Amino acid sequence: MTTHQAWLDEARSNPYAEQIAAGFRWLRFVPELEREYRHYMQEDTFDLRRFALCAGMLVWLGFSVLDCFLMPASRELAWMLAIRGGVLVLLLVCGLLILMRRHHFLLTPLSLTCILSAGLGGAAVVAVAHRIDPTYPYEGLLLICMAAYFLAGLRLSESLTSSMVVLLGYVGLELLSRQDPLRLFNNLFFLSFGNLMGLLGCYLLEYKSRQHFLVSRQLRLLAERDGLTGLYNRRSFDRQLERLWRQAQREGVSVALLLCDIDHFKAYNDHYGHQAGDGVLRQVAAVIGTAARRPLDMAVRLGGEEFAVLLYDIDLAQALGRAEALRARLAKLKLAHERSPTAGVVTLSVGAACLAPGEGSDRSQLYAHADRALYEAKAFGRNQVVA
Ligand code: GH3
Ligand code: MG
Ligand code: MG
Repeated sequence: MTTHQAWLDEARSNPYAEQIAAGFRWLRFVPELEREYRHYMQEDTFDLRRFALCAGMLVWLGFSVLDCFLMPASRELAWMLAIRGGVLVLLLVCGLLILMRRHHFLLTPLSLTCILSAGLGGAAVVAVAHRIDPTYPYEGLLLICMAAYFLAGLRLSESLTSSMVVLLGYVGLELLSRQDPLRLFNNLFFLSFGNLMGLLGCYLLEYKSRQHFLVSRQLRLLAERDGLTGLYNRRSFDRQLERLWRQAQREGVSVALLLCDIDHFKAYNDHYGHQAGDGVLRQVAAVIGTAARRPLDMAVRLGGEEFAVLLYDIDLAQALGRAEALRARLAKLKLAHERSPTAGVVTLSVGAACLAPGEGSDRSQLYAHADRALYEAKAFGRNQVVA
């Protein structure tokens, strides 16, 4: 397989569509998409986590006040309030770290810490209370499990694991405080079924969230790419040029633009047919794509048989080198074009311009200079690069 074919396959295959076709019943994508999805989820669930944290702390405080009314003044009550206070401090610290947003990679561990501390702390409070009052409500633990499933921005596997840890902790602590086994069994039965509901709901929600992610990414891909060649389209180009221009201004570097136009393409279509013309456009696009290798560079199909390459932080000599390399690579493909008066093969004219954003230069000038250079390349006999 030649490099341009490989590039084309890569550009035109769509990992999102492939994942939809392959399915994701086990709530798992291929590794690269999985990474992207988790990143997207962290952004998407940030507000939810913030809300859940504030609501959780208020509820926790409310239950602490309730304890004072429900329980007689005793050593047990003092222990319960101490545990509640400790958990509250932990929630506050985690909450602050979450809200600071700087610790993005810590978002999931922090959410897990909140759930586990509230869950195990809650289990400890219940177990201590049951030493003197076996009817003390344990159902609050289910609230914490539900928060894990629906509010903490966790994936199903994470919320399930943390809920199971909480349940196990609850059983262990109750056994330590010698709760009546029959009553414990009854409580556990209720908690387990509550968790089963949470599990089902969480599965459906995560499935829908993953589906939404794949579809929206696919739509974005379609909106910013050209359907025939897989290169970026004009809209993406305009946005990227605007963005790069501002960045270049900040960093004091130059931006180069290569405008490329296939020579005598109308004649090619007339002679070989429109479908063969489309094939040539794809092959030329594959060559153009090889010029934009760095993350901020961009290869674009502007429309028809016109392409552009946007190059960041580069001087005119280097940009000309890239343009010449492009032209040479296309020449090497030797795509027959019998009706071309320039050469017997498909050729490209390139207009190159390089500008540093600053006083008295704006990005429309970059385009105008490159366009002018392209016009001259055509006028001087085509199949050449003009700066
Ligand atoms: P020049 O060397 O001066 O650039 O001449 P040209 O024939 O390449 O330029 P012109 O602008 O006259 O013709 C461009 C042609 O590109 C006309 C049109 O049929 C063809 N074209 C535009 N879009 C497509 C497309 O999507 N597929 C195909 N097959 N042809 C296209
Ligand atoms: Mg043209
Ligand atoms: Mg042309």
